[in-house]
Amino acid sequence: MATRGTPYLDELNPAQRAAVLALDGPVLMLAGAGTGKTKALTARIVHLLNQHKARPNEILAVTFTNKAAREMKDRVGRLLGEVAEGMPWMGTFHSLSVKILRRHAELVGLKPNFTILDTDDQLRLLKQLILAANIDEKRWPARLLASLIDGWKNRAWTPEKVPSSEAGAYNNRGTELYAAYQDRLKTLNATDFGDLLLHCVTIFQTHPDVLEQYQRWFRYILVDEYQDTNVCQYLWLRLLAQSHRNICCVGDDDQSIYGWRGAEVGNILRFEKDFPGAQVIRLEQNYRSTGHILAAASGIIARNAGRLGKTLWTAGALGEKVRLIGHWDGEEEARWIGEEIEAIQRGTRGMDPVDLNHQAILVRASHQMRAFEDRFLTIGLPYRVIGGPRFYERQEIRDAMAYFRLAVSPDDDLAFERVVNLPKRGLGDTAQAKINVLARAAGVSLLDGAREALAKGVIPGKGAAQLRAFVEGVDRWHAVTLHPEYDHIRLAETILEESGYTEMWLNDKTPEAPGRLDNLKELVKALEQFDNLQGFLEHVSLIMDNETEGAEEKVTIMTLHAAKGLEFPVVFLPGWEDGLFPSQRSMDESGLKGLEEERRLAYVGITRAERLATISFASNRRVYGQWQSQLPSRFIDELPAEHVEVLTAPGLYGGGFGAAASVGFGSGLEERVSKADVYNSPGWRRLQENSGTRPMRQPQETRHVVIDMEASSPYVIGDRVFHQKFGYGEIMGIEGDKLDVEFDHAGSKKVVARWVIPADRV
Ligand code: ATP
Ligand code: MG
Repeated sequence: MATRGTPYLDELNPAQRAAVLALDGPVLMLAGAGTGKTKALTARIVHLLNQHKARPNEILAVTFTNKAAREMKDRVGRLLGEVAEGMPWMGTFHSLSVKILRRHAELVGLKPNFTILDTDDQLRLLKQLILAANIDEKRWPARLLASLIDGWKNRAWTPEKVPSSEAGAYNNRGTELYAAYQDRLKTLNATDFGDLLLHCVTIFQTHPDVLEQYQRWFRYILVDEYQDTNVCQYLWLRLLAQSHRNICCVGDDDQSIYGWRGAEVGNILRFEKDFPGAQVIRLEQNYRSTGHILAAASGIIARNAGRLGKTLWTAGALGEKVRLIGHWDGEEEARWIGEEIEAIQRGTRGMDPVDLNHQAILVRASHQMRAFEDRFLTIGLPYRVIGGPRFYERQEIRDAMAYFRLAVSPDDDLAFERVVNLPKRGLGDTAQAKINVLARAAGVSLLDGAREALAKGVIPGKGAAQLRAFVEGVDRWHAVTLHPEYDHIRLAETILEESGYTEMWLNDKTPEAPGRLDNLKELVKALEQFDNLQGFLEHVSLIMDNETEGAEEKVTIMTLHAAKGLEFPVVFLPGWEDGLFPSQRSMDESGLKGLEEERRLAYVGITRAERLATISFASNRRVYGQWQSQLPSRFIDELPAEHVEVLTAPGLYGGGFGAAASVGFGSGLEERVSKADVYNSPGWRRLQENSGTRPMRQPQETRHVVIDMEASSPYVIGDRVFHQKFGYGEIMGIEGDKLDVEFDHAGSKKVVARWVIPADRV
């Protein structure tokens, strides 16, 4: 068979080319941000096909997000051009696992049409189990159990495999509840996210014939963002690759940012052990960012200990320095960034115009997004939000989807519970309990339980008629889904109408109602891209982003975590404040390890920028309704000064971009931006001078002044509080913003006031 030309190789440098040409055997590509790892990986897929080493469906490519998978599909499609004869298996660990699991569900006691629970459903289920086990959920929150179970699943521990060292977890009941939870999931014919992978691993481990089939099938395996795989994912890969060893992993230890979700950088080191003789390829030339940006990012990451160590250089120009600016509060930061984005779009910032699609705001925490959404809505700046509080997590969307789920799988009990009395159908707790009891006794679904309750006449009053209408509705909708080519959009509209759900919001007079109706319309619109409801539901349960691409240019707002692997010419990095970034929580929970992971996140953030990166911080920020004073992030101290330009305060204070001034940094290489530099910068001084006279926006709520660590806490001794990690406790002493808390189970600890919440608010 003749091979076609290889124009894609011409676009690569020698090291990348080596990685592409080494088609057989294990390959590890270890390199810094923007060095073309993903580009080389994509070229490798094309080369495999081009050289007839594999047919498309014999290639398995794992990406970290669905967005990345889509991008890779696009790239491969483009590179392959007209020769594409089917596409390789490309997707995230989760989406690939679902495909596999659907084919072998019965091997782990499930039916092929199993449901995938989201976090909400998962928590609801856990709460029921906790209640049934007579445990006080107030003291032992379901969330705690959920994260415990997730952690075990990430380590590939089924209930039987949880080691005895974990026996004390969740008041000694963790393993027992884990087992009960797995049983319950099986009864419900459901899985959670972690199960998707864990079940696959279990099947591979217990059914060598099935494993062999996939090993033969996936003759070439490629993995992007390898540094963020957890143990379970690692096993999944190793099992699939161990016979042919044609596995190519690319990663960057400096970009490992999912340790909190069980990712293990150690997997990189393990690779060479498990696949002896692996070719290790290093790439050093960065093609993405200009010199100042790269140097600023490198300066920060250099502070981390225990790095594998890499050289990075760019042949590109130095470009613009990384810009740094302080603001009075989060709203003003949003206002300033909005103006900057528009100015950059118009080309009035000394650069060529950059359209909105090529500008992004990367936040540390999703609660930061709101300020930007609000501001951009006000000024009519189009934006898209990726990650964070997602479209599909909104209440009305989840309600509507529960209806869809019920139509597709009438025995989806969790969906039934969610909507049986929504809108109100006169079915209170007692009526629902009766249905539950009947269903359990007969070992049937809640829907069938409801039928039985109706037949027995145990539902009193108007509820009976309404329940009957509901059951008949579900039956009708389900019957439609059984037609091979039903009109799913029409069906979705019918369901929302006949169920009374749309009407419920039409009659709702709260200010949110119109937005919810819009979202429902948006939901129906989203269905257009799918062949049927089943496909859509599957998609939704897997997506990590809510991007609906239109023609309109939009600024992207997303979390730093979700931005991994992506690039934008212009990047804004707001909220660089100690406690927010680095996040207090990750430092509290994981100490130095947590801080280093945050620092890697800073590195990921800066290295997303191609031409302009702007870091900002605010001295006041409202977090979950409470004003807090903030100190600039310690990562700001770590920026190499000669690559940074400190801007003056924005127009509000009479400054403005034209007055941008570089503070007098020396040019020594060791020079760093220090907080003193920031405070002495003209902009910051002005900020402080003005802050004395300017009325604060929320004076009665403002607890802190600009820079004041000693501000008083809102608590008094004896208050009960809740801390994410340590649980409930009582305040024994207060010292500035630090609290001495006697935790019910964790003992006495000193914690920062803003990381606890009043116990009655949990
Ligand atoms: P990250 O670590 O952030 O995931 P990466 O190593 O995967 O980065 P890519 O996204 O593949 O890097 O590439 C970064 C940018 O550099 C892309 O715009 C890509 O097209 C470009 N690029 C990569 N290799 C080359 C090359 N040899 N010549 C020119 N441009 C390149
Ligand atoms: Mg990449």
